[in-house]
Amino acid sequence: MKSVIILGSTGSIGRSAIEIVTRYKERFRVTGLSTYRNAELLAEQLEIFPDARYAAGESDGIVEVGRLAPSAKDRAAGYGQSGIEALIKESAPDIVINALVGIAGLGPTLWALEAGSDVALANKETLVTAGELVTCKAREAGKHIIPVDSEHFSLSRCLRGNREETAEIILTASGGPFYGKSLEDLKDVAIEEVLDHPTWSMGKKVTVDSAHLLNKGLEVIEAHHLFDFPYDAIKVVIHPQSLVHSLTRFRDGSMLAHLGPADMRLPIMSALFHPEIVEFPWEVLDLADIGKLEFHTVDMERFPAFRLAMEAAAAGGTAPAVLNAADEIAVEAFLEGRIGFLDVIAWIDEALESHEPAPVRTVDDVFAADRWTRKFLVEAHSQAHSG
Ligand code: MG
Repeated sequence: MKSVIILGSTGSIGRSAIEIVTRYKERFRVTGLSTYRNAELLAEQLEIFPDARYAAGESDGIVEVGRLAPSAKDRAAGYGQSGIEALIKESAPDIVINALVGIAGLGPTLWALEAGSDVALANKETLVTAGELVTCKAREAGKHIIPVDSEHFSLSRCLRGNREETAEIILTASGGPFYGKSLEDLKDVAIEEVLDHPTWSMGKKVTVDSAHLLNKGLEVIEAHHLFDFPYDAIKVVIHPQSLVHSLTRFRDGSMLAHLGPADMRLPIMSALFHPEIVEFPWEVLDLADIGKLEFHTVDMERFPAFRLAMEAAAAGGTAPAVLNAADEIAVEAFLEGRIGFLDVIAWIDEALESHEPAPVRTVDDVFAADRWTRKFLVEAHSQAHSG
């Protein structure tokens, strides 16, 4: 039996992970769960897993969970980052699913590796902001970072046994809900339109990032660290059907395309059972049903957020941490209705313009760049902040 902690168990990835460990309950023992603020759902999940301890975002979340699920009353590990740290260190499970949102996922990835756990990583910010530190730590610990992201899961399939012969890796992007529209058209789009993704059902933050194609920029950085390809050997292509998740080109000029249903249970299941391959119990693809697959070039002028991400990647050091922090704070402002959709790009641009990238030697360098960015944007846009 594998012991598992699911961080962010009430979010989109977390709920799918719960579905899988429940279905295969003879294979997994859940030792920990965490939520940011969905005490109600966490209380329900804790009733299903009597051995699981838990953490919540705030102290009142702990109180609320104890009230809703009396059987869980004595199972709180704590709240905030220290609660998650305690949760991981107390049980040191075989695998930690990190489905936290934002830079809040970085510390937990490091604690999991230190505790001797493999990490099923759905928190892309971990690798975007501190890719070298984290991959180095995993190597030292002899532990695996298993990507829970459709494109990276797909790439790991394409590269298996083929790494040496592969010259180039290609990630696909759906293009999001506004593909084919001009930037001018997007000035006044409503939050609901942004959140209405054509092919994937995901959390809010990643859905907004996908509409800007910034998400694909973050994924290129993630791929660079996970698979150790230089940036000029990583390409992106628009593929509106979201069924080919990645492609690789071999040195001999031939290519491999990897298809799968647009279903996150596929990468989550693969990560949970890693390295074992098990049968997928849900619907698989019917090619004749699909009919056609399209591919288009990414227009950098049309997707400025993607261009900014690639510039931050090339600058390296603390620049990706600034990109990430600016995006987090701008997307939050957008979701709260304080700024428009295109202002998100403007905020990221401003922060990157004003930042002098420095080398990342320790994780504190990452957190310092993160704090600098938040302070910079709060001060630059105090009006949008006071709302
Ligand atoms: Mg993805």
